[in-house]
Amino acid sequence: MDLGKLIQDRIRDVDDYPQPGVVFKDITPLLADHVAFAGVVDAIVNHYGRGTIDKIVGIEARGFILAAPVAYHFGAGFVPVRKKGKLPSRTHQETYDLEYGTETIEIHLDALRPGERVLIVDDVLATGGTAAAAAELVRRGGGEVVGLSVLLELSFLHGRDKLRNLDVHSLVTV
Ligand code: IMP
Repeated sequence: MDLGKLIQDRIRDVDDYPQPGVVFKDITPLLADHVAFAGVVDAIVNHYGRGTIDKIVGIEARGFILAAPVAYHFGAGFVPVRKKGKLPSRTHQETYDLEYGTETIEIHLDALRPGERVLIVDDVLATGGTAAAAAELVRRGGGEVVGLSVLLELSFLHGRDKLRNLDVHSLVTV
């Protein structure tokens, strides 16, 4: 089975969401297909190899859905990066430009131990602002960013250009 083709088949384009002119890549059909979902998780784990990562950082909200099973299969801990105001304890914060608007994301001050090897997981890499900010949060938290895994990379938005010093692993690029 061609995982890339299956992923593309299960991602739906939604026109004019969340605002006119934007074509939103909706991954919910993929998540609902257990073969596609498991294939994605396995492909991320196999790319890096078990035992090489201490923590998986998942980016709110769809990144959580992928990052949690990846953490389980790696035998790594899970750390949430959340939108401003959602984490209960003290945080580092980063503000950045998004494809549509601006955003501030946070990580708990004590989420990582010094030198821990971290893989960041999200659903879609678009302009790269979110991933670059998450990587900065990991570094400020004392972690070493091993890479970024995403389900889908929108290469026409050139997100990789903001992530030059990172290993960017995307399962499908459009
Ligand atoms: P970026 O910061 O522009 O790279 O946007 C990536 C972030 O926005 C990720 O956390 C994605 O979840 C979300 N995002 C941007 N575009 C899409 C899309 O078309 N589908 C799903 N999520 C998206």
